[in-house]
Amino acid sequence: MDMNTIEAVVPTTDPAEWRAGDAWLAGGTVLFSYGSYAFGAEPLRRLLDLGSADWPAITVTENGIELAATCTVAELYALPDSAQVAGRAGVWPGLDLIRPCCDSFVASFKVWNMSTVGGNLCTSLPAGPMISLCAGLDGTAGILGPGGSSRELPVTDLVTGDGQNALAPGELLRSIRLPAAALTARVAFRRLSLSNLGRSGVLLIGRHEAGGQLTLTVTAATKRPVQLRFAHVPDATELSHGLDEAIPDTLYHDDIHGLPEWRRDMTYRLAEEIRGELAAPEGARPGAVSGDFWPPERHAPRTPPASTPPVPKKDA
Ligand SMILES: Cc1cc2nc3c(=O)[nH]c(=O)nc-3n(C[C@H](O)[C@H](O)[C@H](O)COP(=O)(O)OP(=O)(O)OC[C@H]3O[C@@H](n4cnc5c(N)ncnc54)[C@H](O)[C@@H]3O)c2cc1C
Repeated sequence: MDMNTIEAVVPTTDPAEWRAGDAWLAGGTVLFSYGSYAFGAEPLRRLLDLGSADWPAITVTENGIELAATCTVAELYALPDSAQVAGRAGVWPGLDLIRPCCDSFVASFKVWNMSTVGGNLCTSLPAGPMISLCAGLDGTAGILGPGGSSRELPVTDLVTGDGQNALAPGELLRSIRLPAAALTARVAFRRLSLSNLGRSGVLLIGRHEAGGQLTLTVTAATKRPVQLRFAHVPDATELSHGLDEAIPDTLYHDDIHGLPEWRRDMTYRLAEEIRGELAAPEGARPGAVSGDFWPPERHAPRTPPASTPPVPKKDA
């Protein structure tokens, strides 16, 4: 879409340059598809282009992973196979979430190669798969403000509603830090869409810490991320009560990608599947996997029980 109200494109990463009528430009996949009036009655006048930022896309240390806001979905997708995390696959099971979350971004290669982690968080759609990933791994957003100020905010608090977030006008999302503590947990992922390879209607991530705690992050079904923390793996009733308390009916999202009632039902179903998967011994084949992108083959095949009758051989 033409943005014919734009008077200037300014290459900068300095929030001091921001003024009313400006928008940060990252991959542009939202800005150039929604147009000049995407964010209100007043048209956008300038784009502050983050393309000149020379922030390293991904930094890996013992403390975890830092994603620059300008890291593209394609760069993130490449991470699990990259030298940056070589040898960490067994230590950081949380890496297994990266590809299913990128895959949940059902879009063309053009969008994958241009759109950024930061742009996804700042667009703040319920179906934002980078929101799911970063919230599910207890990500912390680093935010720069005018006058050289900076602050940090959990990603679960950054996104506050459908298309809404906690950024003040002019604030710039600089990076997202995924802590090693979350990456070392066992994880489970479930996603459902109303159509084959459609936009996420429900996306849940579970994390089972070595200390026994279970964290469940609900996204896409709800207008904003919702996190439930249990001191141990709950039983089915406890989990269901936890969901009742954490998510009022009005928080379930309602759009063409799913009715709130369906999203609610599927949230309970997928949460129970995740509970079952993480309650089972590591490596056990999950009882049920609804949805896509989390194939049971990921788990070691289960040895058939001794009582399994032998398969009769056909006569030659
Ligand atoms: C075919 C198609 C399919 C899509 N599917 C999905 C989907 O499944 N789920 C989904 O969530 N979205 C989807 N989108 C929307 C969009 O592509 C994504 O949300 C994308 O991640 C936006 O990133 P971007 O870098 O292109 O953002 P941009 O278009 O550059 O910016 C988007 C918004 O974020 C602001 N912004 C960007 N970076 C920063 C920053 N660092 N600090 C502060 N503000 C910033 C911009 O000012 C603007 O308001 C889709 C789009 C298309 C065209």
